[in-house]
Amino acid sequence: MEYVSTRGSAPALDFENVTLAGLAKDGGLYLPSEWPRFSREDILALRGLSYVETAVRVMTPFVAGALDEAELRELCTSAYGRFSHQAVTPMVQLDHQHWLLELFHGPTLAFKDVALQLLGLLFERFLSRRDTHLTIVGATSGDTGSAAIDAVAGRAKVDIFMLHPEGRVSDVQRRQMTTVLSPNVYNIAIQGSFDDAQALVKRMFNDPEFAGKFNLSAVNSINWARLMAQIVYYFYAAVRLGSPNQKIAFAVPTGNFGDVFAGYVAERMGLPIERLIVATNVNDILHRALADGDYSQGSVTATATPSMDIQVSSNFERLLFDVGGRDGLALAEQMKGFEATKAMRLTNAQREGASSLFSSARIDGDAMAQAIRWAYDGSGEVIDPHTAVGLAAAREAGIDPAIPVVTLATAHPSKFRDAVERATGVRPTLPSRLGNIFDREERYAKLSAHYAEVTAYIAERATPRNG
Ligand SMILES: *Cc1c(COP(=O)(O)O)cnc(C)c1O
Repeated sequence: MEYVSTRGSAPALDFENVTLAGLAKDGGLYLPSEWPRFSREDILALRGLSYVETAVRVMTPFVAGALDEAELRELCTSAYGRFSHQAVTPMVQLDHQHWLLELFHGPTLAFKDVALQLLGLLFERFLSRRDTHLTIVGATSGDTGSAAIDAVAGRAKVDIFMLHPEGRVSDVQRRQMTTVLSPNVYNIAIQGSFDDAQALVKRMFNDPEFAGKFNLSAVNSINWARLMAQIVYYFYAAVRLGSPNQKIAFAVPTGNFGDVFAGYVAERMGLPIERLIVATNVNDILHRALADGDYSQGSVTATATPSMDIQVSSNFERLLFDVGGRDGLALAEQMKGFEATKAMRLTNAQREGASSLFSSARIDGDAMAQAIRWAYDGSGEVIDPHTAVGLAAAREAGIDPAIPVVTLATAHPSKFRDAVERATGVRPTLPSRLGNIFDREERYAKLSAHYAEVTAYIAERATPRNG
């Protein structure tokens, strides 16, 4: 399988190089040069398969040339063996029409584990084949940091430096990162905001000498391998509900557009999807883009759903590329305009291409809390605020009652205990798989938000590319 950039001027790469590169050299994002197609018979043949076997079938075409089927199976068995539920991503029925797809049974309680557990193993496998060492640098406001650290802790030839804003992540989130004491894990509390931490990381990636010397790599959802791993659960869920003989709609709590884009890929591959419902909180750039063609950046409002508090939705570029006729050079111009003015209009082709499959909704804090109560009162299910944003959008989407609507449950309710308790009066307990994180030793550095100080700290501890 060959991968091309959304901005049309970076070299095409194979799966191995796309995984290690993350972002394309022209600033674009990588996508397969064409979508693999599953026939009705191929989808029927997924019936009864386990999550791991479904994953092998769905991902085999994407990894062709880099991993054979046996290698892929070995990695999936290992990645998904760490989930606490035997079905990996089980479903729960809420009422006649509505279902939850629980994606939070991984080690750090958010759906990011589904992709990052596999990505950690892919890094290790691909690095073992070459003479290079990788340094992952990231900034986190919570979920991504712990999932990435868990995925690479103790692995050979990779170090991870994770920056979080001091005092601005929850105790659970901080301890999920800082109690991991593997020698290749470095947590840094930055005296500043998340934006300060993110700005430091961006500057490192734009510093060719530093980025080159330490072979910096990113683990955010611009990495194609993450999206690929998320396609699997759309197939797994749809097949359980009767696909390909039954169409299914999905509602997806959305921030960076990675999760819902994986649903789009599933549809392109042949899965009969009735609708993809993009649910945003009041940070609604995607809702405005899909409803009115207005993709313009506002300022971020902090909400009870912090993983969806975004200003720019990186993976939306992948959709614009695919529905807009795959003209990389034209998209590069459009994105340059957006980067200069922080606003752009979607073209007619982009709007029409998106509207056949996508709808969207903006869910405020009241509607979110109401959805938590609705699920709890109607079926006894305790859901997290992100999931509730998805469920509220699912219920107001007006989908034909004959069509099942699956809401992606993206975090375990215990990760956001206060908001859940406010809505239901019930305080969710932390699952025992988190262990005694409140008793364990924490290790992290506290640094000021000065570029020279942070890079000096990393340079002293990181391994150079060929080291
Ligand atoms: C990351 C995250 C999201 C948003 O997913 P995207 O792929 O960025 O759209 C939603 N909910 C939770 C709990 C998350 O951690």
